[in-house]
Amino acid sequence: MEIKLVTSPELRAGLRDLPQVIAEARIAWNEPMSSYTSFQIGGPVDALVRPVDENELRRVLMYCRERELPVFIMGKGTNILVRDKGIRGVVIKVDHPMDRLEFLEGGQVKAGAGLTLKELSQAVAARGLKGLEFAIGIPGSLGGAVVMNAGAYNGEMKEVITQVRVLDYQGQIRNMSAAELGFGYRYSILQAMELVLLEATLQLSPGDPKEIYARMEDYTVRREARQPLNLPSAGSVFRRPAGHYVGPMIEELGLKGFRVNDAQVSEMHAGFIVNRGQATAADILALIRLIQERVRERFGVELIPEIKIIGEA
Ligand SMILES: Cc1cc2nc3c(=O)[nH]c(=O)nc-3n(C[C@H](O)[C@H](O)[C@H](O)COP(=O)(O)OP(=O)(O)OC[C@H]3O[C@@H](n4cnc5c(N)ncnc54)[C@H](O)[C@@H]3O)c2cc1C
Repeated sequence: MEIKLVTSPELRAGLRDLPQVIAEARIAWNEPMSSYTSFQIGGPVDALVRPVDENELRRVLMYCRERELPVFIMGKGTNILVRDKGIRGVVIKVDHPMDRLEFLEGGQVKAGAGLTLKELSQAVAARGLKGLEFAIGIPGSLGGAVVMNAGAYNGEMKEVITQVRVLDYQGQIRNMSAAELGFGYRYSILQAMELVLLEATLQLSPGDPKEIYARMEDYTVRREARQPLNLPSAGSVFRRPAGHYVGPMIEELGLKGFRVNDAQVSEMHAGFIVNRGQATAADILALIRLIQERVRERFGVELIPEIKIIGEA
């Protein structure tokens, strides 16, 4: 182990003792976040940990609280932009070990936050359950999808989630109903609270497997035709402002394909920014600011990023 990024002696000591609560093999030190984000961008994090289960996650979280280590919770990193100097403290990645899947009575499904949306939508389709077809092409974990109220093709997580299990930063595990999650457009109250999503219960309904698969295939074909899936990105950069569509506004400004170094407005879908190879977070942020300014000037519309921007510049 080599801790070289944090400078505060307290934080260094806190990090050094982290293996007291999680096996060293599950900690990556000074790890570039570019390896863990779909943008393939981001400076190093002091420690990235991948707990095997809820107990280990809880132990790590309680330890970080006690030692005052900053914590960030991530899923698959498909909706985050990490700045170039990275993240001080600990990133807890809710990942594959936490991917339990249980089919209950009456079309109910309980799934771990670390399961990917793709795996989940395929698994429920194989059981002849409909309602999650829209999610087939949304990359990322179930946890991230609930937190973001991810959606596509007129579907969103809000419509299928009935309850979640969360761990709060005091170490308590509790259930929250869908009503308590305050779902809105790409929003849940979880974004504003110190909570880790552990598991979600979904309510789906019986459907004809042939129709379910046909819908999933249709969405996949449409996505492949419209989105630059061969280049690193974080999906749509901006939230959709009421009464407007982001892509067409950017296109009208002649910014499709516009570059700041290796950060480029996608030539395929102007709502996406892609990394053409060596883009830094500073490049992406400069491009975001430029788009915001031009859109404000021309249309009087304030574009707000949908992606979460974190870390040190
Ligand atoms: C090519 C591409 C296409 C996309 N298409 C869509 C689309 O059609 N619709 C759409 O809505 N999104 C889309 N996205 C964005 C993204 O995939 C979704 O927002 C996804 O749900 C994020 O999940 P994640 O696991 O990657 O979350 P991350 O990016 O890891 O995290 C996102 C946020 O959730 C929080 N978080 C993650 N997991 C947990 C947890 N277990 N507990 C507490 N907080 C947590 C993080 O702290 C962060 O604030 C796309 C992205 C890409 C790259």
